[in-house]
Amino acid sequence: MKKLLSVLLACVLVLGLAACGNDKQQNAGNNNQQEEQPVLRMATNAEFPPYEYYEGDKIVGIDAEVAAAIAEKLGMKLEIEDMAFESTLMALSTGQTDMVMAGMTVTEERKENANFSTPYAEGHQVVIVKEDSEIETLDDLQGKKIGVQTNTTGDIYSTDDFGDEAVERYNKGADAVIALSQGLIDAVIIDLEPAKVFVATNDGLKLLETEYATEEYAIALNKENTELFEKVDGALQELIADGTVQEIVDRYINAE
Ligand code: GLN
Repeated sequence: MKKLLSVLLACVLVLGLAACGNDKQQNAGNNNQQEEQPVLRMATNAEFPPYEYYEGDKIVGIDAEVAAAIAEKLGMKLEIEDMAFESTLMALSTGQTDMVMAGMTVTEERKENANFSTPYAEGHQVVIVKEDSEIETLDDLQGKKIGVQTNTTGDIYSTDDFGDEAVERYNKGADAVIALSQGLIDAVIIDLEPAKVFVATNDGLKLLETEYATEEYAIALNKENTELFEKVDGALQELIADGTVQEIVDRYINAE
């Protein structure tokens, strides 16, 4: 009886090990060379043309292409995850993602929780109003309802300048623009490039001539992972130096 038991036990052990071994083998078998590449996870909010937006079910845009070029340089496989803009930095600190590329402006406050790469683009906060709006200057915004995308610099600056009660927050810039078209708010403060797209694709809107703020976009990385930071920033610097970044930007923006 004892012997039978130990034989059984041995079988179980052997089977278990075999199963384990099999598992590994299967994984190895499934991994063709491409899949063996380490993954570079990028978080973004794909509502921000021309930096990131959907073409069919694919996320394209300046950030997506720069990220792909970085991944290629590093021999990594890029995986893009779409989420709310306000969740991106949290995803970075919790390790859900490796980097954020989301037309993200470098600010002193954000620098406390993330490492920012070399800037790769200049950003501008601008004001969208209705074509027949009485708002002509930034001063005219006093006492008006201003729409922004939650937690963006447009949100942060206009809350500082015009007060919390003046600011209406939306999940997407596009939702703020719809509210403006419907007359629910008086203006939208948002980044220039998406603003141009929104004005071109919605009737009856225009940009104020004076811009509201100038800023810089950079890649945000986890503060703890300095090794990945050096790699990504190094690759980005090379891509800036050899003109790749400019070529990508020109294709999406300057060529129009
Ligand atoms: N540049 C702005 C910011 O960083 C907006 C970015 C965005 O909406 N994707 O806050």
